[in-house]
Amino acid sequence: MRYSLGIDIGGTNIAAGVVDENYRIISEYKVKTHSDRSYDLVLDDIVLAGKTAVANAGMTMQDIDRAGLGCPGTCNLNTGIVEYANNLGWHNVPLVSYINKAFGIPVFFENDANAAALGEYAAGAAKDAKSAIVITIGTGLGAGIIIDGKLFSGSNYAGAEIGHTVINVDGEQCTCGRKGCFEAYCSVPALIRSTKQAIEKYPDTMMKEISEKAGKVSGRTAFAAAKQGDKAGKEVVDTFIKNLSCGIINTINVFQPDVFCIGGGVSNEGDYLLNPLKEKINSEVYSKNSIHNTKIVLCQLGNKSGIIGASLLGS
Ligand SMILES: [Zn+2]
Repeated sequence: MRYSLGIDIGGTNIAAGVVDENYRIISEYKVKTHSDRSYDLVLDDIVLAGKTAVANAGMTMQDIDRAGLGCPGTCNLNTGIVEYANNLGWHNVPLVSYINKAFGIPVFFENDANAAALGEYAAGAAKDAKSAIVITIGTGLGAGIIIDGKLFSGSNYAGAEIGHTVINVDGEQCTCGRKGCFEAYCSVPALIRSTKQAIEKYPDTMMKEISEKAGKVSGRTAFAAAKQGDKAGKEVVDTFIKNLSCGIINTINVFQPDVFCIGGGVSNEGDYLLNPLKEKINSEVYSKNSIHNTKIVLCQLGNKSGIIGASLLGS
């Protein structure tokens, strides 16, 4: 059996895992990112997480074939430098050379959403597909595009940013500077924003009680209320699904992949999210009369897709 190390660098956590040839994570170690620190301290914690995961597997670095890193932002595969990662506050960080020196084994990296897509493609919801698109709805809307087994990220490694295509001209302000981006409507902060607005508009909505009990408004609040028949909650969920279907249909109309996978916490809503979403997509997508239509599915690996996908880099 051969082993590789996958490290998922997120805005909140750094998660490292030793992964075997069957895509099984045999040991894991997690540390907080604390991205407000200077980047070299974060790099030291990436090294710590990787070394600890290897030690937890009862191994040394000599037992590991290679390490892969999934990192937010623009990862230049030619130079090994993270050119820009807005949610880590990184500009031109020499990630690969630093980690390579510390581990002494080959090190590869990729944008984190791309790495997660690779994980789902190898071992999750997109297994057996030729082409697949994976979106992850979280703090933002990350996406990975795989065509014939290869990640597509454009001529400058900044491609596949489906989250920053506009679904509403002059709409909500996005963190990227544009207005009306897909991400500005279909991310956890966007869902929280529209839930809060609905609570203000309809003070007797169940969302008020649900959020007070939980101590905060979350991405789950509107779904929980809607499932109990709350009208305002249903309105928030319906609008979310309408916006989500718009962004997905735009993407399918360009790529027509075999599979389109939806991940992130909101995918825990299961069929309650998936069924109306599929119905909308199937009724509007350009290929609606085709017998070979894109399958719409939920991701299967959860937050493990980042580690598994990263472990496959360079393989
Ligand atoms: Zn944007």
